[in-house]
Amino acid sequence: MDKIFENPTKIFALTKEGTRELYDNLYNEMIEEDKDVVDYQEIKAMTTGALCPDCNSSHVIKNGLQSGVQNYRCKSCGRQFRVTTGTFMYGVHEKGKMLEYIKCMSAGMSLRECARIVHISLTTSFFWRHRILCAMQSFEDNVNFFGIVELEELLMNYSVKGKKKRDKQDTKKLTKKKPTKVAIIAATDRSGNILFKKLEDKRVQADHISDFLKSRISDNSVVCGSNKNAFKTVNAEHIKHKEITNKNKMKSGIYSVSTVHEKITDFVGWIYYKFRGVATKYLTNYIMWFVIKGKYLVEKIIEDTGRILNLAASDRRAWERYRDLMSQTYLINNI
Ligand SMILES: [Zn+2]
Repeated sequence: MDKIFENPTKIFALTKEGTRELYDNLYNEMIEEDKDVVDYQEIKAMTTGALCPDCNSSHVIKNGLQSGVQNYRCKSCGRQFRVTTGTFMYGVHEKGKMLEYIKCMSAGMSLRECARIVHISLTTSFFWRHRILCAMQSFEDNVNFFGIVELEELLMNYSVKGKKKRDKQDTKKLTKKKPTKVAIIAATDRSGNILFKKLEDKRVQADHISDFLKSRISDNSVVCGSNKNAFKTVNAEHIKHKEITNKNKMKSGIYSVSTVHEKITDFVGWIYYKFRGVATKYLTNYIMWFVIKGKYLVEKIIEDTGRILNLAASDRRAWERYRDLMSQTYLINNI
């Protein structure tokens, strides 16, 4: 593999296999060449083209370095920005530690272990985890379903884990509006595509299912749902063939929801045994982590570090998502 930091334009000509090889070797190459995550973001900006965060124009010129980071200026609106603007690295002071942090995360370490190894505080460890997970949300756009698509509703307990009860009024507000369940649509097909989506509702409704599948399902797919009301009543134009399965049908036929049930069991186990539950506020982030583990990662630390970094570095809306998440209150409308 060529040294991409010396000759980044090499990336443009890579085949699909070459690209995968690049991500899988990325960690080792960055260590060898003493590069950090922001250096890699600069390379990503070259391949996707730097875009102005304000007006989205691609009419952008390089405008010198600032503290070693590439600056840009938009020729359309005049906005000056850095390669990190809008990304998960925006405002991170110790950028040199992020690659090692991602490696710890790939190794499945706890927040505390990550903090100890990378030499950051536990609070920073928590924030960095969510910066990265927020940047992985855009992976959702890459998930499509083919063939037999299995759907199920997953209800999780509403959780305010980790929230400090600041005063009596806060506690009162929480008890008064005490939410109970959070609904998630879980979907898989038989070729390993998987997506879970948290809804701002306590049950899955027919409309949610219709919206969820609209742009993700191929024309000749068969949608299998359990015999819950939402699945029975969904009747969208884009669903050409629908099968409702009950226990008897599941035993005998190919139209079943057993694959999605397995994934749900894995997910719930992962959330409760590995993290001892997560706050509902952060559930979407953990869901995408689970989806990426199942669909994109290979359970090898070095390879997964490169893959996670690549995914996170591609997202120029991550900071916005992260900021919104952190400023969210715990109580969600409808729940
Ligand atoms: Zn602009």
